[in-house]
Amino acid sequence: MQPRDAFAGPVRHVYVHVPFCAARCDYCDFYSEVVPLRRAEGGAPEPAKPAASAPLDRFVDAVSTEWELERAAHEVHGVRTLYFGGGTPALLGVGRLERLYQAFAAQLTAHAEVTVETNPDEADEAFAVWAARRDVRISLGVQSFLPRMRAALGRRPAADPSAAVRRLRAAGVRDISVDLIHGIPGQTADDVDHDLAVLADLAPDHVSWYELDVVPGTPLARRHPQVPSDDERAALYRQVVRGLERLGYRWYEVSNFARPGRRARHNVAYWRARPYLGLGPGAVSTVGGRRWRDAADVADYVAALDPSPRDLPSPQDLSSPRDPSSPREPSPPPREVESLGRETLARERLMLAARCGSAVPLADVRPVLDPGAVAPLVAAGLLSLHSGRIRVTRKGRYVGDEVCVRLFRA
Ligand code: SF4
Repeated sequence: MQPRDAFAGPVRHVYVHVPFCAARCDYCDFYSEVVPLRRAEGGAPEPAKPAASAPLDRFVDAVSTEWELERAAHEVHGVRTLYFGGGTPALLGVGRLERLYQAFAAQLTAHAEVTVETNPDEADEAFAVWAARRDVRISLGVQSFLPRMRAALGRRPAADPSAAVRRLRAAGVRDISVDLIHGIPGQTADDVDHDLAVLADLAPDHVSWYELDVVPGTPLARRHPQVPSDDERAALYRQVVRGLERLGYRWYEVSNFARPGRRARHNVAYWRARPYLGLGPGAVSTVGGRRWRDAADVADYVAALDPSPRDLPSPQDLSSPRDPSSPREPSPPPREVESLGRETLARERLMLAARCGSAVPLADVRPVLDPGAVAPLVAAGLLSLHSGRIRVTRKGRYVGDEVCVRLFRA
């Protein structure tokens, strides 16, 4: 088997994980640190204690340094997509976001897609003006337009998300994506209809509508061990797909819907198994047959990449004393590294293609397939086979994980 170009070739896609949030949400298991905020009258949110700003500033420096180290270590051919995710990147404030942006600016291609995630509360006037000036695509974490659904998810009470979308548009932001969730405990078909009606009014360019994943160990899992049943969640999912298609969005991935020309190019690169670099604590990179994850610890991350003298142990701690005023050289942060064998690459390629309904040459994935699985899936209308290429059908995309489980050789 030759898994062809899975994660091979020059790097053109970069993700930056900004691990700071104003509060933890009950369903979330992403790595982030809480930065308590205060908001001056009419002004941008800022860390409540001045001392809390220092880690944010040093984080920005550390990401810039990691980017320089990775650029030197890999073949990077112009950055076509750059994604600031989190966490809540907008919490950095406009000044730090601009510094981060500038760290990459010289390597961005002419029509690069740059995305910044934010919550409605952080999408204030200053942020909106900056995003418009930099022609940044915004991914807005709404989850539901109904306050009681956001409360069920354990999100902090937020400003009206619709007002945030209007503010971004009024400032001139051209490309807005909204994140929503279905399968929230207590959510009904009427609640989903309400969110669809708000979308019809706001007309964002892109919608990511995920099914709630209740992760064991999260506060939500302890509060609501019973989420809607499989049948209830499947019905809500069908309602979401049909509703968004009626509004003119194209269903191009399991959870993603776009107006023409507005697909999330960064995510499409993941689903096409393109190589990418992930910077920041907890970020994952996959290049060629190697995958690594920076340790999810902002203090360790900053200490490795921005080793100012105050991170050095005191001379008394060292067997041979050293001068604490001479800083160490920056080094990559602590990481877990994994080698991806051909079978793993082939499986991932098939699973990623299944998400978008894209075709995969049967010859590329045959060694990981159960030889008896293809024909029954084709007969059931969940898979198509044409010209030696298999493709998960629209019907199969609703149950894509199950299709993959049945396809793979045990
Ligand atoms: S704001 Fe986003 S990243 Fe932060 S805790 Fe909530 S869901 Fe997680």
